Amino acid sequence: MKTLRLFDPKREPFSDMLLFDGAAPEDIVDVLGRSCVCRTEPDEVVLGANIPNETVYMVLHGELRVDLLQAGDDDVIHLGRGECVGELSVIDGSLTSNKVQAIGECDLLVLEGPAILTLVDRSHAVARNLLRILSRRLRGTNALLSEEVRTSEIMRLRSITDTLTGLYNRGWFDDTLRRMVARADQGGASFALLVADIDRFKLFNDTWGHQSGDYVLQQVAEALRASLRPTDFAARYGGEEFALLLPTVLVLESAALIAERVRSAVRRIVPLPGHNEKIPPITISIGIAVRQPGEGAEALFRRADELLYRAKREGRDRAVG
Ligand code: GH3
Ligand code: MG
Ligand code: MG
Repeated sequence: MKTLRLFDPKREPFSDMLLFDGAAPEDIVDVLGRSCVCRTEPDEVVLGANIPNETVYMVLHGELRVDLLQAGDDDVIHLGRGECVGELSVIDGSLTSNKVQAIGECDLLVLEGPAILTLVDRSHAVARNLLRILSRRLRGTNALLSEEVRTSEIMRLRSITDTLTGLYNRGWFDDTLRRMVARADQGGASFALLVADIDRFKLFNDTWGHQSGDYVLQQVAEALRASLRPTDFAARYGGEEFALLLPTVLVLESAALIAERVRSAVRRIVPLPGHNEKIPPITISIGIAVRQPGEGAEALFRRADELLYRAKREGRDRAVG
């Protein structure tokens, strides 16, 4: 960047610059008259990221690009005439947050930190404009931050959701079961676990096709969701296998009531809407286990799974606890 000359407020316009908007010329012309105008090379870096900075650069002619490092790789803003960079680090003494680069050849008004402070002391309008510029920056940053938070929240939800049914997936289930066991060990309430498996589902797929099978899986998920309380959780932990976590259910009888509700909701599913043929109902078998003191996550799951297989052996379409 090379220094061209001092700024000449008598001959060069400045009232269109946001920082000087509404300022009385007599308050600011002498400071402006002591400030330099510099010219950049094309692509020259005006401000690096994470460096100390004592200077505000205001665009007189040309364009700057700011690479927003906190955001995604392709987040760039362009600054044109009257816009400035560097004011945040000048005001609070922090390191710069973003890299600023000239797009082509660019003329900049260079306002050193002390000059900025003098302008603020002299002119209420400059002080107000600076607040405006700073609050725009903050809003911009916040918007980017909340965008980031939203993106990471979407990623997190994707990572714990089963795409076919919208229920929680196996990873979420394993993790949550472990955490619920740990919490109960630390004096928290116990809970119940139901594991459910669709009966003779291979036959259904073989007869009606995989797509109809997928539809049934979605309907079963819907039936589970509809039969649970808002505090309960349903997960798909295998192909046609589901797990239900029922916090605050402490006795087998209460868990069995919920299991019955789920079982009859699944029986009401219409597996092939609009189909005239008589189709046997979709049924599930369920194993019911209330977590016993000292019982680990794996042992609890194994016990519920064994009860599920007892339900299968005893004829399916039933819940066994
Ligand atoms: P059982 O009553 O003993 O549980 O019999 P089953 O036929 O349900 O048991 P098996 O484990 O032999 O078969 C499970 C079937 O579930 C196999 C597969 O065709 C089906 N299945 C698993 N995942 C999916 C899926 O994502 N979509 C569809 N359509 N079918 C699936
Ligand atoms: Mg199975
Ligand atoms: Mg099955």
